[in-house]
Amino acid sequence: MYNKSILTDIKDRISIVSYIGERISLKKTGRNFLGLCPFHNEKTPSFNVSEEKQIYHCFGCGAGGDIFEFVMKFENQEFPEAVRHLATIAGVALPVFEKNPDNAEDEARLRKRKWCLRINEIARDFFAEALGKRELGNDAREYLKNRGISKEFLTQHFLGFADNSWDSLTLHLEAKKVPLELACELGLVRKRDTSGYYDFFRNRIMFPITSPRGDVIGFGGRALGEDEQAKYMNSPDSLIYHKSGSVYGLDKAAPAIRDKGFVILVEGYMDALSLMQEGIDNVVAPLGTALTEGHLRLVGRYSRNMVLMFDGDEAGIRAATRTLELFIGFGTMPKVVALPPGEDPDSMVKKEGKKAFESRMTETVSLFEFFVDNLVRQKGFDPAGRVAAIGEAVPFLRMMKNPVEHGVYAKILASKLGVDEADVRKAAAAKTRAAKAGIVPDGVAPGLSEGVFSAERVLVRALLSNSELVPEVFEKISPDDFRDEWCRTVALMFARNMKEKGKIDIGGLISETGDALLAAQIRSEAMQAPEAEEDEILGLIKDCVSLIVRRPAKERLKSINDEIRRAELDDDESRVVELLKEKNELALHKNG
Ligand SMILES: [Zn+2]
Repeated sequence: MYNKSILTDIKDRISIVSYIGERISLKKTGRNFLGLCPFHNEKTPSFNVSEEKQIYHCFGCGAGGDIFEFVMKFENQEFPEAVRHLATIAGVALPVFEKNPDNAEDEARLRKRKWCLRINEIARDFFAEALGKRELGNDAREYLKNRGISKEFLTQHFLGFADNSWDSLTLHLEAKKVPLELACELGLVRKRDTSGYYDFFRNRIMFPITSPRGDVIGFGGRALGEDEQAKYMNSPDSLIYHKSGSVYGLDKAAPAIRDKGFVILVEGYMDALSLMQEGIDNVVAPLGTALTEGHLRLVGRYSRNMVLMFDGDEAGIRAATRTLELFIGFGTMPKVVALPPGEDPDSMVKKEGKKAFESRMTETVSLFEFFVDNLVRQKGFDPAGRVAAIGEAVPFLRMMKNPVEHGVYAKILASKLGVDEADVRKAAAAKTRAAKAGIVPDGVAPGLSEGVFSAERVLVRALLSNSELVPEVFEKISPDDFRDEWCRTVALMFARNMKEKGKIDIGGLISETGDALLAAQIRSEAMQAPEAEEDEILGLIKDCVSLIVRRPAKERLKSINDEIRRAELDDDESRVVELLKEKNELALHKNG
């Protein structure tokens, strides 16, 4: 939407250190600024901000990026919002997107959307009124009273009642001049086979589902009679409602989530309502579906500190462990509160009260630990059981893309199963990309001698934290000299960056990787404080370069073929000639 030069312009005019420094306290340490990470709980600071590179990076949780990414994460904003926010601060005028005929379709859609929201509002008010009616809403009111839901609470949350008449909502919508085919799209009414429409929700308590802004986007209906076919029925997906991207209660919970710094996820909206009624208000629930990535993305805009709460029976445990992959993919590890068997959030909070219930939040384990404990319980702690448990847990370790996270959970797995951490890492490293990148120590690329491998790694690391030296070093060495895949990738990025900008711009280089793991690794290396004096670094770099380029002729012969192929693809004729010459010399040398 915005072109690159505008984004660069904005970045250039705002100091990332002063922007972040206004929000969290930062102290200058060496070349970087250091503070407590706002994205995870820590006591010793590991959150680094670099003025020269215009990036931030947390060594504790791996969060990082440029100023746009900081704003998106810190202020819970989408990208366009973050751009507008920073453009205002920077005093950069953003282009106005003019109306044009292509937008006519969008406008029609927008108008339809507004109508849909209005129809749902009419229905919500109609249901709420029915709940208050003396005769009609009697049973529904009685039911809610028995569940301990107060009158004020149900008014505040717009709970309602759909009666059993088959047409009362349909008639009401008709009287309000609502196009019924639209109400049908929203799932409020259904088309009869003959002609006309009938009410979809009947004899149900109605729970409006709202967007984070408070618009009514759908409904959940709980059967009042026990003989109904489905206990819970929800609105179908529509223009304004997507069940895999909406959660119940977010508009009401949002302030409390921000306030308390975490969000409780429960299984159903009745659970959420019960907790809210007791004053535990940082709670949301999916609607008629298991948790999805869309749910996490939505809730994650408010807090990535999530507490998963579920019934302590076998089904509940299975449901919780099934979400492990989802959370790892999303890049956050929730905590888990397992309720005693036979209890649900509603029964529990009523039994023990708010205070005791809330103290459960402090006695949590991570979902991964919970998963491992459960494996041990299932498989047993004898050698065969432990081997089986490792076999099941390791695939999840492999999914963790953040090397820090990977390391932390490998350690936990090892200690819980009483095995050597190195063995767990080895099992997990076999196929990880982290292993390829050399982050996991066991993952040395096959066929690469230890000395050259570490020379390459040391050199690339040294160059990342001293990027001003890159042009000089690249006069003596080319990306093709690197045998380790990760090193070569970074070296190629250096080369491209130099060609385009004439100098190394680490921030720009990172934003162009298009690979979150690689970006995080580069950021982390680039933020590393120099461990030596400048003279020493220069000496170190020189040693590495000579070790790498003085590679045995046989190895060079192998790499030169790749290089020739690449030069041919680039149509770089003079380079091809040069390489062929070198190849001949090497061959002569080898034979002689
Ligand atoms: Zn952090």
